[in-house]
Amino acid sequence: MLIAGNWKMFKGPDATGEFCRALREQELPAGVDVAVCPPYVSLAVAVRELAGTEIAVCAQNVHWEAEGAFTGEISAPMLRELGVYGAIVGHSERRQYFGETDETVARRVTAALEAGLWVIACVGETEAEREAGETDAVLRRQVSVLEAHEQLVVAYEPVWAIGTGKTATPELAQGAHETIKELLDVPVLYGGSVKPDNAAELLGQPAVDGALVGGASLEVASLAAICRAAA
Ligand code: PEP
Repeated sequence: MLIAGNWKMFKGPDATGEFCRALREQELPAGVDVAVCPPYVSLAVAVRELAGTEIAVCAQNVHWEAEGAFTGEISAPMLRELGVYGAIVGHSERRQYFGETDETVARRVTAALEAGLWVIACVGETEAEREAGETDAVLRRQVSVLEAHEQLVVAYEPVWAIGTGKTATPELAQGAHETIKELLDVPVLYGGSVKPDNAAELLGQPAVDGALVGGASLEVASLAAICRAAA
């Protein structure tokens, strides 16, 4: 079971240091892997403050080239140099606002895995796609660009459930996870308004191997409560 906190564009270095020191003090349950994904500028602080713990630090994106004229991008070897463990790739906010496509997602995933990072690759349908009955086709298309790898995890994040307070029903999540697992033999996390009070039900589904948590990962108490629910 993996619980990963996607902080999006929240928490600079000071707030990150404070959070990580408080997280270290929490008694997190055995058998649950925990990761935090701060913004780039806060990664070094998180790596330093969580050194010696089992809590992993991941980035929220990674470029496919090792270096070059790609203003504003960060490469996998640079993340590795910092002691970062993995990276989220293809989050729906990047697909929606920053032109990420299945092709660029695939390139980022491949480069990150080759550099030794773990990858959480995000897939999921929009509300319009779900209403049009296209969920299955969208998942198949998004997953088709990925290849199974021992350091690859997929996150199923229905776009209509991200940051909206709307959560997929456990049955709906289970169905989508089964579809993904038929295509790719990797662990699949659920993401979309996971909170302490709905985590146990979602994580109790047999095809759900953990959660990618946005808003509820920004408070130590709620992240720890979700980890306990996962156990
Ligand atoms: C996310 O950012 O990946 C996410 C699932 O956000 P939230 O939990 O806030 O819906």
